[in-house]
Amino acid sequence: MSTPRHIVLTSHSRPGSNYFSPIHWGAEDARNRGPVIGSVSNPMHRNVIGTHSGSYSVYRAVSVAAGRLDPSHVPDLTNTSPVTKIGPHPQWSDPEKIVSFDPWGHVVADEFKEQISEGLDIRPTIAITQARLKLMELRDAIERGRLKPDGRVLLNNGDVNVTKIAIDPVWYIPGLARRFGVDEHAFRRVIFEQMGGMYPELVTRSDLEVFLPPIGGITAYIFGDPDTLHDPAIPLACRVHDECNGSDVFGSDICTCRPYLTHGIEICVEMAQKGGNGLVVYNRKEGRALGEVTKFLVYNARKRQEGGDSAAKYFERTECVAGVQDARFQELMPDIFHWLGVTRIDRFASMSDMKHDALVSQGVEIGERLDIPDELIPEDAHVEMEAKKAAGYFTSQTPREGADLDEVKGRIIDE
Ligand SMILES: [Zn+2]
Repeated sequence: MSTPRHIVLTSHSRPGSNYFSPIHWGAEDARNRGPVIGSVSNPMHRNVIGTHSGSYSVYRAVSVAAGRLDPSHVPDLTNTSPVTKIGPHPQWSDPEKIVSFDPWGHVVADEFKEQISEGLDIRPTIAITQARLKLMELRDAIERGRLKPDGRVLLNNGDVNVTKIAIDPVWYIPGLARRFGVDEHAFRRVIFEQMGGMYPELVTRSDLEVFLPPIGGITAYIFGDPDTLHDPAIPLACRVHDECNGSDVFGSDICTCRPYLTHGIEICVEMAQKGGNGLVVYNRKEGRALGEVTKFLVYNARKRQEGGDSAAKYFERTECVAGVQDARFQELMPDIFHWLGVTRIDRFASMSDMKHDALVSQGVEIGERLDIPDELIPEDAHVEMEAKKAAGYFTSQTPREGADLDEVKGRIIDE
């Protein structure tokens, strides 16, 4: 492994540019769009800001620093191609429809075979595989007679067949700025400054329009037939879920995240069994994208406040600690629907108006909206549920108000 003698600053020197291998975002096919070259093995080839793997790019750097990873290693992509074909859909060649990841990210090994064989280090930013899910809640749904195994989607032992897709973020900065309704230069500057001066090219290299941000990506689970997911004549059930490690993985009872997720999976399975399809989109946006440290601080503040944890003060406590109630902007969330070619969701399992409105404003039609059934809500999570309903989140019930809302209390901190 060799280390160059000089440190190469990326801010003003010439390595990498949109001239060497231009990216024409929104071009009609992958070759005209051009490859996204984010690897650091040859700085002259780079045409983006940042590098691959989202938040894991930091671990990669540490592996190199610790001498455990050869920085010149180029991935061998043999047999890594997608298990199913997605697209291309007309939405892929509209530069305003998909701005937060690369629509061609799963087909780079095929589309850019020649360039790769000539030595360009072009890497996939999307991978598509298959899996089988084993979930306690689905077995429970079978036992209670809500679901019946069909041997295709839901097997006799309660396992579920799925296609799953992992997507790393690839931001087209001009499109992103437009999506948020802000000036591109101002957008670049604020991102640069608020990230503590990371990625100076954001402000010095306006020729580089694509940024691979060091953040988590998206996982999508498809139930049914990925080939017909885009067909509005085939009904689609859907849950858009933002990560909540405490509940999703560990079953913490203060919120409804895991019950919402497994309920979403249940309606997806049900729809796939009836000849439709199901889609669960899982976004890495822990704790309303404020992070888990902030989230746990808020839990303490909620439990210790005068009068105890109450639905009436639920949002206020988050805002006291974080400055905002929620940092999960949903403006970019519809991108994956455009990528999958989805124009209509028939059953949408979510009480979030932000998610609903973001999809509708991006032209995705939504039929029925579903609440989580009451019996799936953990006792301590009624504080969150009632607070959300009172704040105008979607519900088919009448939200509580005033003293009635004050009465919804959670456990105290050491109970
Ligand atoms: Zn949660």
